[in-house]
Amino acid sequence: MKKTTLLDRRTPKDSDLPFWKTKTLAEMNPAEWESLCDRCGRCCVISIEDADTGALAWTDVTCKLFDTNACGCSDYPNRKKKVPDCVKLTPKNVPKLDWLPPTCAYRLVSEGRDLFWWHPLISGSFETVHVAKASVRGQTRTEGRLKIPGLLKRLTRWPEPLAEPPRAWAKQKRGKSPSRPKQRTD
Ligand code: SF4
Ligand code: SF4
Repeated sequence: MKKTTLLDRRTPKDSDLPFWKTKTLAEMNPAEWESLCDRCGRCCVISIEDADTGALAWTDVTCKLFDTNACGCSDYPNRKKKVPDCVKLTPKNVPKLDWLPPTCAYRLVSEGRDLFWWHPLISGSFETVHVAKASVRGQTRTEGRLKIPGLLKRLTRWPEPLAEPPRAWAKQKRGKSPSRPKQRTD
């Protein structure tokens, strides 16, 4: 009779799992931490909180440094100097930031959830976040001189991202081995 050990039943082994399933945010090294950002750009979109209910409403307006075509910060290394209220994410503040979108990878990991199919660490491509309609690329304008009344006219219901890759994308990727995206080191 074949002897079954406890180890045999533990599949997959922890060492086979990717880092975001085995480490907490606080345990990640800087490269792992940076690679967790899917570059959706949604955290750079201005949201408005209802003072009575605390409910958040999203706009299609971003911080002045956001480049909508590149879907990212146009001066990431100097962002805190240019936009003092830009919040640097940390393992400590992520669970408290209710304005992070529900699809944000940092939020997902902090809530013990897995990444979605479009995340570059899973798909091997930075394009899939846009294919999935999880990003704000090309759909925003910068705040300029807009004040609250102007922002209220720009309230937007961002779409639910696609739950699965569209057939055309899956077909295009079939047979190709995905290459890992470069990790941000800045
Ligand atoms: S919402 Fe989260 S995953 Fe998306 S760009 Fe911001 S930090 Fe990165
Ligand atoms: S400064 Fe850059 S990272 Fe910060 S909110 Fe603005 S665009 Fe986003």
